[in-house]
Amino acid sequence: MVENEMVWDLTQLLKSTDVVSIRQELESMVSEGERIREEYHGHLERLDAENLLKFLERKDAYILKFEGVRKYCRLMYSADTTDNVAKQLNDAVLKASTKVSQALAFIDIELGRLLAEKPQLVDSSLLAEYQHYLQRILKRVPHMLSEPEERLIIVKDRNGIDAWEKLQIDWLSTRTFEIEIDGEKRIVPYGRIIGFYESQDRNLRRKANQIVYENLGRDKIIWASALRAVCEDHMQMCKLRKYETPMTQSLIDNDVNQQTIDSLMKTIEKNVNLYRKYLSLKAKLMNLPKLANYDVVAPLLKAGEKDFSWREAQALVVEAYQGFDEEIGSWVTEMFYKKHLDGKMRKGKESGAFCASWLAGKSAYVLQTFNGKMGDVYTLAHELGHAIHAYLSSRAQKPSNCEIGSCIAETGSTFGELLLTEMLLAKAETKEEKQVILAHVLDGFGMAAFQVSARVLFERSMYDATERGEFLDGEKVAKLWVMARDRIYGDSVDWMVVMEWEWTMKPHYYIANYRFYNYPYVFAQLFVFALYRIYKEEGKEFAPKLKRLLAAGSSRSPHDLALELGFDIVKETFWEKGIQQAREFIKMLERTL
Ligand SMILES: [Zn+2]
Repeated sequence: MVENEMVWDLTQLLKSTDVVSIRQELESMVSEGERIREEYHGHLERLDAENLLKFLERKDAYILKFEGVRKYCRLMYSADTTDNVAKQLNDAVLKASTKVSQALAFIDIELGRLLAEKPQLVDSSLLAEYQHYLQRILKRVPHMLSEPEERLIIVKDRNGIDAWEKLQIDWLSTRTFEIEIDGEKRIVPYGRIIGFYESQDRNLRRKANQIVYENLGRDKIIWASALRAVCEDHMQMCKLRKYETPMTQSLIDNDVNQQTIDSLMKTIEKNVNLYRKYLSLKAKLMNLPKLANYDVVAPLLKAGEKDFSWREAQALVVEAYQGFDEEIGSWVTEMFYKKHLDGKMRKGKESGAFCASWLAGKSAYVLQTFNGKMGDVYTLAHELGHAIHAYLSSRAQKPSNCEIGSCIAETGSTFGELLLTEMLLAKAETKEEKQVILAHVLDGFGMAAFQVSARVLFERSMYDATERGEFLDGEKVAKLWVMARDRIYGDSVDWMVVMEWEWTMKPHYYIANYRFYNYPYVFAQLFVFALYRIYKEEGKEFAPKLKRLLAAGSSRSPHDLALELGFDIVKETFWEKGIQQAREFIKMLERTL
């Protein structure tokens, strides 16, 4: 019975689950995409406001019309990648989607040209609902090159930075490591050995870290060559595309401005001592004089952790959201009784968890593997927070305004985790239970807000060095990493010497055309902690504000969204609110000692 409750019902996404009719629908998705191309390719540049509105609405209607079939095929495969029908349908939807994106690739380019010619369209009252969507396209226009140049860049990237990125991934995933476990020597791949970082056995954690980084450091020439190529290519492209700084492109992508990110990072740097204080508290909880690098996110030894059944988890999460807002609570309940969650453990199921929004159904689907641990209840609360974001934004916005950027995308989810924290703390019976809950929240906060900040400082310093014409070899990069890391951690953690090679395995630094990916994590974390602090100050009055923010989707920039609620994210005082909330949690933890 309960087993069955943990399996989602995807049939709601479709009229018929018959494979032949699904294939037919995918075919009509492709042919309708091609019809849009025939009608508009080469003509977008000449549209007036009225016809542009018609086009955008047509595009949005097209997204909604075929969303169900696309989601069905993708989600069915995520739930069981070994199922033969799922494999075929996943392959079919990928092929069809590629055809559609090829057919519709002209849209962004031609819309860019149209807006470059007639920027006044952005302010047309007819297009009010699309204003921010169009503003964002217009912002990219000055950085677009001619069509032959853009085509040339795609070709050179294929064997250029794309190849360096691939080398890093392939090299890392094919490394093997020799480790002794229970007196027995074993050769394990990278993906396996990193699992030992979270072991309860401290000695095993230390050994795994030592072996991995000692080995990765030996290949410093490979890592540094790849990274240097990525950095220098980015600098060249910034010049060609006329980006002011190496970070400009990422600021445009994330819809934020430089001052906001500067204030955010200043707040973090001013408060490193708070994080260091938490790390020393954690050392006390683990009966250690000081944490070593392999203890920072390790589980607490005093396991005050309880197990939860699916129904208990459901009741807790519903209660947490209900206590914040009735309507949100009822939508969370609806996710369960409409069977939009897949929590069952299953061979072939994708690892990790996600929430896929279903705009046409004004709802969402959530996948996770529920093992009854406290972390699983947190994941459930997190993904349901994303679902609430989808419930609100799909009711208020056009599909074009539901592409929520990474600075804002974690608002509902992380807020939900904090609501759950409140609930769990209220129900905790022993101080050990409270310690486990608080350490879980503060570990997560510390990683997202402070550990990631070290990566922000590191990435900046690499581009500064490149700009000064310095040569980035392995030793130089390692030095920059250690400097950035120490600015955050000071001497609160004992780092093994080999940890200077930690940067070698982070794929993000190597991903082509994806520079400065990291500050959105810091933003998202501190943003939600600040909102939660304000909620604690304002009480019930805050709920409608948060709902307005979530309902806005991507129709306004994060800056404007916050301003509408009365907060200015350009100012450090806003970000300090987030720090205050972390300080509260640390005080609670201190009281349990
Ligand atoms: Zn999330």
